[in-house]
Amino acid sequence: MESLFSRIDSKREDLVSFTQDLVRIPTINPPGEDYTRCAEFLGRRLAKSGFSVLYERAKNTPGDTDRYPRKNVIARFEGKSSGACVHFNSHLDVVVPGEGWTVDPFEGIVRDGKVYGRGTCDMKGGLAASVIAMEAILEEGINFSGTIEISGTVDEETGGYGGVAFLAEKGFFSKPRVDHVIIPEPLNVDRVCLGHRGVWWAEVETLGRIAHGSMPFLGDSAIRHMSSFLELIEKRLFPALEQKETSMPVVPEGAKRSTLNLQAVHGGEDESFLGMPSPCVPDSCRLTIDRRFLIEENINEVKAEITDLLNELTESRPNFRYRIHDIMEFLPTMTDVDAPVVKAVSASILNISGKNPEYVISPGTYDQKHIARIGHLHDCVAYGPGILDLAHQPDEYIVIDDMITAAKVMAVSTLKLLGVVS
Ligand SMILES: [Zn+2]
Repeated sequence: MESLFSRIDSKREDLVSFTQDLVRIPTINPPGEDYTRCAEFLGRRLAKSGFSVLYERAKNTPGDTDRYPRKNVIARFEGKSSGACVHFNSHLDVVVPGEGWTVDPFEGIVRDGKVYGRGTCDMKGGLAASVIAMEAILEEGINFSGTIEISGTVDEETGGYGGVAFLAEKGFFSKPRVDHVIIPEPLNVDRVCLGHRGVWWAEVETLGRIAHGSMPFLGDSAIRHMSSFLELIEKRLFPALEQKETSMPVVPEGAKRSTLNLQAVHGGEDESFLGMPSPCVPDSCRLTIDRRFLIEENINEVKAEITDLLNELTESRPNFRYRIHDIMEFLPTMTDVDAPVVKAVSASILNISGKNPEYVISPGTYDQKHIARIGHLHDCVAYGPGILDLAHQPDEYIVIDDMITAAKVMAVSTLKLLGVVS
């Protein structure tokens, strides 16, 4: 292992400049800028290192156009004989930089042992660490049976439909092609992330009747109906959700409970004409909700908590009418702590950092959901060098030492999963 570790240490400059190069390709999503450039940049590098490289454009998935093609890259290196396949999956997309930066978000400047930029932490730094780790194994000439794969996929930040979901539908994340998956999302360098809570997004619309704003009694205000619903949510649902606590090791602490975010409310006529409101009684008000739920909860019960309140209002409140439709839903997923990939990564963390790793569950979903749900592969974790809280923040950065540590953990985990070391 010593020679592998010193090889990884010696690749520090390369690791930093590769991360910088990735950050300088601003793969902002939405809309999905520069995917092709980024996928091909990664593909060219891995081809040079001996991988066979394949590109898969996710035609007809949300957002895919000739201007914004959803291009994914999958690289594969086969060992001397057949065996297990270890796959590292990273998403190439980043969120918009937003306000509040003190450095250029797409320059990738290095300061105080950190690389700054949008996507350094989430998750181009993790991607770079996995590439360096696998290249180090190959350069060491370590003989192994089995296969190493690295993929760069799109659209994780918008649901992953054109990325991991698309590839999973095509069998890229199922046995026998793949056995173990590590997703280098930023969950901190000494933690193993086993999965995530569930999510349900829905839109509730209350309906009214339009009338002149000077005679509201002749109409029926959809906004007043919505406020009666919001009142019930405040009085009854929020306190009830506070009571639900999971045995899943979710971080941060607050996310151990069920949560509900009221994402947006839109009601009445808009102010498009000279900023003046239209003097009308609103006949529609729409609320979008983001409900995150626990492994102990059933999705039908989660939905019923909302519809029960709405139906109660239909009974009790004159003229209350509503529509509801689902926008998105994913069940919670949690890999078993005894799964091979969990054991391999945990043992490697202990080896390298001398610390017993913490098992965590992510408050939000990530691409593991598609691997579990579509690929039916349950030997999957997220493990990566970034600091979770920095994701999507201004002045996002990745600590270079953490990338080196993570690369060592990834390399040793791979050798364990391929049976090279025990
Ligand atoms: Zn991410």
